[in-house]
Amino acid sequence: MRKADLHIHTYYSDGRFSPAEIVERAKKRNLAAISITDHDTYEAYEETCEATKDTDIKVIPGAEFTADFEGREVHLLAYNFNPKSTLMLELVDFQRNLREDRAEAMVKQLEQMDVHLSMDDVKEIADGAVISRPHLAVALRNKGYVRHFKEAFYKYLGNDKPGYVKSDHLDVSQIIKKVHLAGGVTSIAHPGRNISTKEIEKMIDVGLDGIEVIHPSHQYAFQKKFEQLADYYDLLKTGGSDFHGRSRMEESQFGIVAINPNWVQQILERRALTVN
Ligand code: AMP
Ligand code: MN
Ligand code: MN
Ligand code: MN
Repeated sequence: MRKADLHIHTYYSDGRFSPAEIVERAKKRNLAAISITDHDTYEAYEETCEATKDTDIKVIPGAEFTADFEGREVHLLAYNFNPKSTLMLELVDFQRNLREDRAEAMVKQLEQMDVHLSMDDVKEIADGAVISRPHLAVALRNKGYVRHFKEAFYKYLGNDKPGYVKSDHLDVSQIIKKVHLAGGVTSIAHPGRNISTKEIEKMIDVGLDGIEVIHPSHQYAFQKKFEQLADYYDLLKTGGSDFHGRSRMEESQFGIVAINPNWVQQILERRALTVN
């Protein structure tokens, strides 16, 4: 059966490859559908459509939004919204600015630890992409403050490390509302990492549409748990490889840690049920 990978990053956020390079991989894996879910942007969408135009690969608009849930940062996947919606365009613009301000705050914080990066260093690495911590990690490595990418997170950028700065993100409910108004649906990303059933239930109360059941970090028991939870609440089931192109392991997961087409069909049909 041809599968679908609905969690993929490109160099428009912190992924390594272009949309065209992703589409090449999708062809090799004989995928039926893909969604590029860059952090807080869907700039890759047009190029991805262009690169698939002589294929029968379906491209679903997507993004992975950073959101606040009760004071904690969570990732919310959005699918099948109207990419031309003013609300969505304003949302990604807002998120981009938030990320740039936060990167500046991190640069300042690192400065106090005698680690000298400039915003220009970071922007040069990002090369127009939405700025995220991996760009700072590469800048730290290039300047010799760390030996490798992971060490940058271990020493400075990890969630509990001294260089980390948390942003004042929009609430999960606010993002869900905007995505709905733009005709799309939402799914809580990789809940196996740190999200309880009770927390998912609270998100369902504010309109969450789906759960990311399939993800490389989810062991079989987690997959089953989230699949049952989704079925119980009649939620959508989503999944994908969370490909960033950073390792051979990720290459082996692309289009393999993926979902069946009937789940995709439900995602596409749910939109029609959305009132607004
Ligand atoms: P940001 O969205 O700016 O907070 O950056 C988060 C991104 O950094 C994630 O999507 C991962 O790609 C990457 N990341 C987070 N923690 C680590 C870590 N410990 N090691 C490597 N990459 C990480
Ligand atoms: Mn990432
Ligand atoms: Mn994520
Ligand atoms: Mn991701």
